[in-house]
Amino acid sequence: MARFFPLTVTDVDRTTREAVAVTLEARDGGDFSFTQGQYLTFKREFDGTELRRSYSICSGVNEGVLRVGIKKVTDGAFSCWVNEDLKPGMTIDAMEPMGKFHTPIEPDKSKTYLAFAGGSGITPVLSILKTVLAAEPLSRFTLVYANRSVSTIMFREELEDLKNTHMGRFNIIHILETDAQDIDLFQGRIDGEKCTALFANWIDIASVDTAFICGPEPMMKAIAQSLGDHGLNK
Ligand SMILES: Cc1cc2nc3c(=O)[nH]c(=O)nc-3n(C[C@H](O)[C@H](O)[C@H](O)COP(=O)(O)OP(=O)(O)OC[C@H]3O[C@@H](n4cnc5c(N)ncnc54)[C@H](O)[C@@H]3O)c2cc1C
Repeated sequence: MARFFPLTVTDVDRTTREAVAVTLEARDGGDFSFTQGQYLTFKREFDGTELRRSYSICSGVNEGVLRVGIKKVTDGAFSCWVNEDLKPGMTIDAMEPMGKFHTPIEPDKSKTYLAFAGGSGITPVLSILKTVLAAEPLSRFTLVYANRSVSTIMFREELEDLKNTHMGRFNIIHILETDAQDIDLFQGRIDGEKCTALFANWIDIASVDTAFICGPEPMMKAIAQSLGDHGLNK
């Protein structure tokens, strides 16, 4: 049977108008140590009905904190409650971390990572990114991050800080659906055609060892297809 443990909310930080980062602390049992890319499953009763929802951990393993990023879904029961009503000091029940969305960290290796994230799909990717930058000092990471507009980019400042701290090892390409960009290629949605153009001019796909994709299903399918077409089946 699934076991839930109480976690104390220690911080609720608004990362965009529609999303918060929630920091949690284990209080009474459960092993909440985690691997980068894992998720937590929460439960809560809404009007007498129990709902369970999963949210990816967005902190790096090295950070020593447990944090999730939750984007408000229009009329969504759990995500609206978190964004509107959850406050530090409150308790929330969660199962221990689960999930296999990661590759092993090899501190002595020099690897090239490529990740695609769409909207709230950034959360597990951010955990992987921060862990790789901290624990695999010879590795490099390129993130292609798709959003509607600048104002909906979750963790924008944190990503900028990471870019400045790890210059030369971490590169980020923002693709925005509605906001104009200096470079035409960086506007619109990510589809097969955009991937081909990115691989032709901006990303050396032949050098990529490991790729991660997390976002809406059509976006993930188009990218996976394109990566396969370009010889990357990882
Ligand atoms: C492994 C995993 C990791 C995830 N990680 C994250 C993460 O890191 N961050 C994140 O923000 N999300 C994440 N998600 C998504 C998250 O779990 C929820 O699905 C999301 O927050 C919506 O839940 P909700 O309760 O707010 O919405 P729900 O109440 O489930 O509603 C979702 C949508 O369905 C509509 N709807 C609800 N009921 C009905 C109905 N009866 N008829 C018609 N329409 C209806 C609502 O209007 C809403 O638009 C993850 C999901 C999984 C599976």
